[in-house]
Amino acid sequence: MAKPIRITAFVAVLSAAVFSQAQSPDSAVVDRIKEEGLKHSQVMQTLSYLSDVIGPRLTGSPSLKRANEWTRDTMSKWGLQNAHLEAWGPFGRGWQLDRFSAQVIEPQAIPLIAYPKAWSPSVGRANNAEVVLVDAADEKELMKLKGTLKGKIVLSGGDKPVPARFTSQGTRYTDEELAAMTEPEAPRPRRNPGGPAGPAGANAGQRNNQMQNFRAQAALAAARLRFFMDEGVVAVLDGSRGDDGTIFVQSASVPPAPTPKTAVPATTNGDAAATAPMPRPTSVWDKSAPKTLPQITVSAEHYNRMVRMIKQGVKLKMSLDLKASFFNQDLMAYNTVAEIPGTDLKDQVVMVGGHMDSWHSGTGATDNGAGVAVAMEAARIIKALDLHPRRTIRVALWSGEEQGLFGSRAYVTEHLGSYPPPAPGAPMNFGGGPQANRGPLTKKAEWDKVSVYFNLDNGTGKIRGVYLQGNDKVGPIFADWLKPFHDMGATTVTIRNTGSTDHVSFDAVGVPGFQFIQDVIEYDSRTHHSNQDVYDRIQADDMKQASVIMASFLYNAAMRDEMLPRKPLNSGN
Ligand SMILES: [Zn+2]
Repeated sequence: MAKPIRITAFVAVLSAAVFSQAQSPDSAVVDRIKEEGLKHSQVMQTLSYLSDVIGPRLTGSPSLKRANEWTRDTMSKWGLQNAHLEAWGPFGRGWQLDRFSAQVIEPQAIPLIAYPKAWSPSVGRANNAEVVLVDAADEKELMKLKGTLKGKIVLSGGDKPVPARFTSQGTRYTDEELAAMTEPEAPRPRRNPGGPAGPAGANAGQRNNQMQNFRAQAALAAARLRFFMDEGVVAVLDGSRGDDGTIFVQSASVPPAPTPKTAVPATTNGDAAATAPMPRPTSVWDKSAPKTLPQITVSAEHYNRMVRMIKQGVKLKMSLDLKASFFNQDLMAYNTVAEIPGTDLKDQVVMVGGHMDSWHSGTGATDNGAGVAVAMEAARIIKALDLHPRRTIRVALWSGEEQGLFGSRAYVTEHLGSYPPPAPGAPMNFGGGPQANRGPLTKKAEWDKVSVYFNLDNGTGKIRGVYLQGNDKVGPIFADWLKPFHDMGATTVTIRNTGSTDHVSFDAVGVPGFQFIQDVIEYDSRTHHSNQDVYDRIQADDMKQASVIMASFLYNAAMRDEMLPRKPLNSGN
């Protein structure tokens, strides 16, 4: 921190005026950024290559590695320097779908909209397998089926409601909604690990019930999978949420490891087992993950028809073909990093990024090819205009975001700082709230060199403003930077936090990390983690708008005299 300088009141007033002038965005440069980014944009071309040509980019997969290399080479071609891959990990094994089809063949042909969950093992060909419905409410009911499921394909769970829609699937924020966002957030109940956030105002009793319910559901799901495996089931199918043939697909599950005998004392009456912390499940991507069953998600409409036919007493037979490859040789994963070197303040860094990894049933256009393409485009615009930022601008494209912000966390740990690891069994903190307050922060070389990290990971929607993550000192600065974009719909600065993506990794160690407010468009209803996460659902004009705002924010942050102000580190650090 610079030494405070004593000055007279008069000089202070004068220099404040000069200072604020010098700090305001250079409007001629912003105009040039708009010209380049709106009229000569390459953002959709970048996104098309990433999503259409390279395709889905599951963490650990060969196509993610290809995306790492392609983004590195593309940014080098644009004139960025020091473009390279940074390994982190070990993450675990990669997975790739080689071949898949599923259809009912008896009593009539019903080709299914379906997709295997990531890291599902191969089935080979199951040509005439009987399809059975298992909708057991508890383990006791499940056990009644013992010895009946060998060689069968199981529909696990009942039908999924498909309510009609009476409102548009795509939405943009109204002025009223944006205005409401500038109010401080009402306190929210703690999020259950892995479960949905409880309703605002839920009391401790309700939360306890939710937690018990969640645990009971998780325990039943685990018991079900273990039972199906023991039975010798061919594959397990479930119905997706969503409609219009949209399916939402993430990772396959692995059966839990058998509870070690020492976990429950021999004298216990069983209560200890009920209150013991749930063991952290093994991840399906772990190299030593236990064997599991092929798991396939089917669109609600097709799944429901099969359920209804079986309930009508019809015998269904299915032809299933699933081949997948696992990659065990390189267990590391990679981030792509590239820079525009700064001038007089080149040791200081302004960062921008998005995550390159995606789920596998779409092409990762929304989540988060869009953010990657915008980060790259922002850097391309600055380079194309031959602007010479004072600070170094660094693009970082993450991996492992979908599995737990792993790539950005590893980067922050390596370059900026870290806290002692969490206690075993502690829930992961994906929230945008307080820093991980669990002991002293160990700072690394760049902790006081990185001014800011900007992230974009809410899909295709244009930027409507920015979340301050509780950092009120940057409020007036960002408000000023947004002014040239008011006529493009970006007006709102909110003190609120937003979480669940890579800026959290920076915020957690006290380095300013921000995520923009974006129009939702079809993020929740259709594209996020679904087979409809594809290029066609990306809005080109929104992407261009986001790119010019991102370029302008990067440039302004790189040019201002001071680094951006920080929040105080949590007490207790
Ligand atoms: Zn995601």
